Amino acid sequence: MATRIALAGIGKIARDQHVPALAASTDWELAATVSRHGTVDGIEAYDDFAAMLEARPDIGVVSLCMPPVPRFDYARAAIAAGRHVMLEKPPGTTLSECHALEAMARDAGVSIYATWHSREAAMVATAKSWLAGKTLRKLEVIWKEDVRKWHPGQTWIWQAGGLGVFDPGINALSIVTEILADPIHVTSSELLIPENCETPIAANMTFAHPHGAEVSAVFDFRKEGDQFWNIEIETDQGRLVLSEGGATLTIDGRRQSAATDANPLTGEYPRLYANMARLVRDNAIDMDLAPMTHVADAFLMGTRVTVEPFIE
Ligand code: NAP
Repeated sequence: MATRIALAGIGKIARDQHVPALAASTDWELAATVSRHGTVDGIEAYDDFAAMLEARPDIGVVSLCMPPVPRFDYARAAIAAGRHVMLEKPPGTTLSECHALEAMARDAGVSIYATWHSREAAMVATAKSWLAGKTLRKLEVIWKEDVRKWHPGQTWIWQAGGLGVFDPGINALSIVTEILADPIHVTSSELLIPENCETPIAANMTFAHPHGAEVSAVFDFRKEGDQFWNIEIETDQGRLVLSEGGATLTIDGRRQSAATDANPLTGEYPRLYANMARLVRDNAIDMDLAPMTHVADAFLMGTRVTVEPFIE
């Protein structure tokens, strides 16, 4: 029987990915939405989260799709009401907030899942298995997109806690922390912050690798024209390039599998919901904070450069 789930924060990602993924799954029944403005046709809609929790004790799982700053209060209320919780990325505003949620979920005996959708991109698992046992020499993240195209009107991205260019950049770090066998840590960070914003429009980072590989990342929200979501890796046994956010893989210039799906990224959210169904079944927790730790470190140690104002 399908498990009833409520979706809270009906905005871009809820409409583009969560609603279709739930509709296509036999594991789930979308039973209610909670949003101040958004609704989904045919689904019972609430504009108050506490009212939904009170009125629908039959809904055992909530998926939180709002931006990170308001998400903690929703997650805390859901756990306190005995509901399992699925968190969009990034899982919270601060690491301590995320640790607190995990502890609350353990105490309450409910599942909590910090989702990282890019880890579910079509070629990430293949890249991880190809890298296993090889010696890493160099890894470069190149994540450059046009913020006006992909985040129109999202003022929260420019406010403290909104992460700026790390909102997409954390996706790259979620892949890197998934496919590398060894842990890395940040050694330098430069944050380019528009003079009218609180978060960076671009950032450069370097990392230490335990076996001396060169690891770096460049994130830029100002890229017009071609967009890049690439991770380029050199090993002792060849060169691997993950592109299109993990949807495409080449090894020594040879494409590894022709995507049969017109848009291989559409598999990410069905896989996240399959993972959540498994966590709920097993009464388990998946709260990997490694991608967020790197972003937090970038903010902790980053040098700030003020750049021209961002006008949408
Ligand atoms: P969005 O459309 O700007 O916001 C989602 C919804 O959150 C809004 O429609 C709003 O619904 C609710 N919301 C906004 N501020 C709120 C507040 N202060 N309190 C309560 N609810 C609030 O953003 P989005 O693009 O869907 O992104 C949401 C999250 O998904 C982010 O963490 C983002 O990183 C992640 N994500 C986004 C994408 C993408 O392509 N956009 C991809 C993957 C992951 P109401 O006003 O109706 O309450």
